[in-house]
Amino acid sequence: MNTLITRSASDLATALGAGETTSVEITQAFLDRIAAVDADVHAFLHVDAEGALAAARDSDERRATGDIRSRLDGVPVAVKDVLATEGLPTTCGSKILEGWIPPYDATVVRRLRQAGLPILGKTNMDEFAMGSSTEHSAYGPTRNPWDLDRIPGGSGGGSAAAVAAFMAPLAIGTDTGGSIRQPGAVTGTVGVKPTYGGISRYGLVAMANSLDQAGPVTRTVLDAALLHEIVGGHDPLDSTSIDQPVPLVAESAYSGVTGDLAGLRVGVVAELGGEGYQAGVQQRFDEAVELLVKAGAEIVQVSCPNFVHALAAYYLIMPSEASSNLARFDAMRYGLRVLPEGVEAPSAEEVMRATRDAGFGDEVKRRIILGTYALSSGYYDAYYGQAQKVRTLISRDFERAFEQADVLVSPTAPTTAFRLGEKLDDPLAMYLNDIATIPANLAGVPGLSVPAGLAPEDDLPVGFQVLAPALADDRLYRVGAALETLLEQQWGGPLLDPDKLDKAVAR
Ligand code: GLN
Repeated sequence: MNTLITRSASDLATALGAGETTSVEITQAFLDRIAAVDADVHAFLHVDAEGALAAARDSDERRATGDIRSRLDGVPVAVKDVLATEGLPTTCGSKILEGWIPPYDATVVRRLRQAGLPILGKTNMDEFAMGSSTEHSAYGPTRNPWDLDRIPGGSGGGSAAAVAAFMAPLAIGTDTGGSIRQPGAVTGTVGVKPTYGGISRYGLVAMANSLDQAGPVTRTVLDAALLHEIVGGHDPLDSTSIDQPVPLVAESAYSGVTGDLAGLRVGVVAELGGEGYQAGVQQRFDEAVELLVKAGAEIVQVSCPNFVHALAAYYLIMPSEASSNLARFDAMRYGLRVLPEGVEAPSAEEVMRATRDAGFGDEVKRRIILGTYALSSGYYDAYYGQAQKVRTLISRDFERAFEQADVLVSPTAPTTAFRLGEKLDDPLAMYLNDIATIPANLAGVPGLSVPAGLAPEDDLPVGFQVLAPALADDRLYRVGAALETLLEQQWGGPLLDPDKLDKAVAR
């Protein structure tokens, strides 16, 4: 194995700066890795070897003239297939968009290109980002590199698995209810959902506009911060984008690496843990909290009583927004068009019905029906309206908790990676995976998941979630980097070890 692929993005950037390697060499090494293991993992829906190498050559040529565009110039990245990429297929994991090639780049993608990061390809996901296992992709599931019979989380399982299996040093995910953080937890990677509005949603195919947020997926907390800096910041093309400088995330990650958290108040959320959480997940979480104490943090117990209603509120608000967003897939403007069988001169409505029937998967249809129902007159007040009130109560719980603590912590997901197929026929069991991640989306606050070790009962990764007040994303990185440093001292190195993983992948 080429050892370049095992290095962090920040290490690769340093090596590029020192002239030890080139972007072409690095990019080729990741492309080779994809060719070697992605048949097993299926993290990518589309690999753009030619485009990535061309961008890498550009980066090398520019570097030779002293024109360096960013701290990660020349370091390749993978992008979740929900972000529009000019000239590259964008399917959102759906048959309805098969073959669609966007005429423009999402702002996130444009910023990656401008910063000189070669784009390796587009990663697999649950259809329209609906799911927690990537099994709802119309193109087949992604597998967890730790155990190919297990799910990599979702909806961004492709991005997480690509990074976990060393097929990319960096990836972009999106998180509406946990789709960056939960895949991070179950694959042993770092995932960050920034403050709502912190990263532009322009060109991000909308599932639920008031909840969707793009963010970094990486192997180290510092790498996530460096990527956050590149894609974050105000965008006039997104009316919900925050017109403020990006929080000092990289500086915070660097300061966290010292492992000193003196004076920091860390709130353990009573409602996010205990009953319903796998014993080994809870154990690794509790041990990590102890480490924070050793690092000088003060632990306080906080209660957020309305969090118990978060899942119910989310599964009304999200489908409501999705049902209206997905109306645009009408067989007229994008992708698939199916003509109904046996109908001569079908009407537009008949074509639309046949196309949506063939083009959408079961989970998407379920949510469109749920959302349409919740928004219908007569039910609006009872369902959508009530859910919005609960959303306000959850925001208030956060406000009160952040008066007592600088950051809040919990396990990221209640269990480690489950087996493929295990929850596919039980939507409610699938939804319960996001019990700890959803409150942050409802309130718009930022969250990070960092690996906390392996659960003793199954040797699978456990995620530790850190939450901060809106616009205080920098705190996530300080705490995340400190925990990462202290844990790696215990483990004697990073959790993700290519030699161990390769017993599962590329057998
Ligand atoms: N798993 C959650 C859902 O199915 C969250 C998805 C997401 O964050 N995109 O809606």
